[in-house]
Amino acid sequence: MGWLDDDIFIAAPMATVEQLTRFHDPAYIDALQRAEATQTISDEDRARFRIGAEGNPVYPEIFRRPATSAGGVMLAARLVLNGGIVHCPGGGTHHGRRDRASGFCYLNDPALGILTWLDAGLDNIVYLDIDAHHGDGVEDAFQHDPRVLTISIHEAGRWPFTGTAHEPSARNYPVPRGFNDSEMRWLMDHEILPLIRDRNPQAVFLQAGADALEEDPLAKLSLSNNAHWHVAAALRDLAPRLVVVGGGGYNPYTVGRCWAGIWATLNSIDIPPHTTPSAEAILRALKYNRAAGRNPPPHWFTTLRDTPREGPIRDEIKALAATPQPA
Ligand SMILES: [Zn+2]
Repeated sequence: MGWLDDDIFIAAPMATVEQLTRFHDPAYIDALQRAEATQTISDEDRARFRIGAEGNPVYPEIFRRPATSAGGVMLAARLVLNGGIVHCPGGGTHHGRRDRASGFCYLNDPALGILTWLDAGLDNIVYLDIDAHHGDGVEDAFQHDPRVLTISIHEAGRWPFTGTAHEPSARNYPVPRGFNDSEMRWLMDHEILPLIRDRNPQAVFLQAGADALEEDPLAKLSLSNNAHWHVAAALRDLAPRLVVVGGGGYNPYTVGRCWAGIWATLNSIDIPPHTTPSAEAILRALKYNRAAGRNPPPHWFTTLRDTPREGPIRDEIKALAATPQPA
């Protein structure tokens, strides 16, 4: 789209083992490196670290790829220490645990980014997760740390089946199928933005998983990308430091269009009605093996902005905002 000047773009560096073990178990990092080198996994490592099991396959870059996401997110956190915004779309692996893989997340780059802030002396951080799945790994990492408030909006009744509205030490908003743009805006305006404003955080970390959008095959929420852009715009001026990462997203057209628009929103760039020829060429070159990919609608190539998906604000949403939760 012509929006990414070289002087504001930095390639993510691969995190070192020393950086990763700030959060992760050294034995687990060893196992990931061993899996990458040998492309196999022992029964013992599979059982102990869930590598090669439960949706966490061994693949050629099983260590380097997540370590590069983590390096990018930790760099993003450092870059904004004196204020600013960094968008690091390769990050967002919110299910990873200290000593095991979960949900195709081998490391937990949001946790590593937030720890970078804590280690630098920040003590009032808000993490907001709008991925279709509960941000369970990040919640687990900080549930006993009063310096970090984790907030997650996710589809109720979907894997990992945690993140109910009544968990202690975190704010969770499990939303029903069909969650629409109007409902997201209502929940943000009536509940989440006041909550963040009250806390007056030094830094905000947004996980903007694109699997909460209507065309994603893994979830049943009905947001348009306008909803994600609205959230990004609302957070832009709420704290002096903002890091935005990606997350889930299993329709590549949806992911590319949504996250390009997040970049534009964070930079206050007006999104034009049509993609440029080079942006359209990138979208047309994507491969999507699911049924919807065999005959993609033309607007997946020629536009970034979805038609808004407004709708009624259901009682389940209003009830969520009214649910008393511990701070
Ligand atoms: Zn997800």
